[in-house]
Amino acid sequence: MKITYLGTGAAEGVPALFCNCPTCLAARASGGRELRSRTQVLIDGKLCIDFPPDAFYHGLHLGVDLSAVEHLFVTHSHMDHFYAHDFILRGYKYVAAMTAERLHIYGNAEVGKVFAECTRREMRSDVRESITMTEIKPFSVVRAGEYCVTALPAVHSKNEDALLFLVERGNKAYLHLHDTGMPPASVFAYLKESGKKVRLVSLDCTLVDTHSSTSGRHMGIEENAAVMRRLKADGVADGNTRFVITHFSHNSAPLTARLRPIEEEYGVTAAYDGMTVEL
Ligand SMILES: [Zn+2]
Ligand SMILES: [Zn+2]
Ligand SMILES: [Zn+2]
Repeated sequence: MKITYLGTGAAEGVPALFCNCPTCLAARASGGRELRSRTQVLIDGKLCIDFPPDAFYHGLHLGVDLSAVEHLFVTHSHMDHFYAHDFILRGYKYVAAMTAERLHIYGNAEVGKVFAECTRREMRSDVRESITMTEIKPFSVVRAGEYCVTALPAVHSKNEDALLFLVERGNKAYLHLHDTGMPPASVFAYLKESGKKVRLVSLDCTLVDTHSSTSGRHMGIEENAAVMRRLKADGVADGNTRFVITHFSHNSAPLTARLRPIEEEYGVTAAYDGMTVEL
């Protein structure tokens, strides 16, 4: 199982679209790994979690064939995770020789509404017909080709059931924990009872170590550490499980020099755009 972090920034990206704070100025001047596009994770080139406005940029800079994505799981309807306008371009004269003809999108009811709103004006009916929208809820289990994907409840929005995902292929399991505050007890209970062991966990680290925080909607490194301890105590993770922190905000100054000591202290890897982890 190959997990690629196409984008590792929060909604505004780093440098943020309209920002000149010291972090954004430094990121703009340095370029490279200091630049963070909006969050998107690609698994084996064909299963995707989230589809931000930067999907186009990921195609440009990371050599990704997004036409090969057969299954798209959407965490929630916020714009940085689901930019549905771009699906208008998935057909008609805008494409040739797509790798996968059909795209299956799975998301909550709000994701379905956003898709309908954003595509209503410009999507041709033949393009619409090649996309299957499936509504999922917390604890839905979906068979997606060779993958088994379980949706779990996030703590992120009062307006919709934001979702976390457990993605399994064979005996390999990847746990995607963003966007969320500290996950609810039901998530830990479900994972413990399932008896599953995860090989890689991605953690919402929007707040890094800014202690003004515990937003309830996102996590920082201390909450990440609590999640890691709990998963290990429950036998869901062990010494071979890798923990990756991601979804960084410019407000938390996520420059690599600052993240390095945090990686060492907490035993985590800070994701960067284009980083791949092989399970
Ligand atoms: Zn987000
Ligand atoms: Zn900034
Ligand atoms: Zn969000």
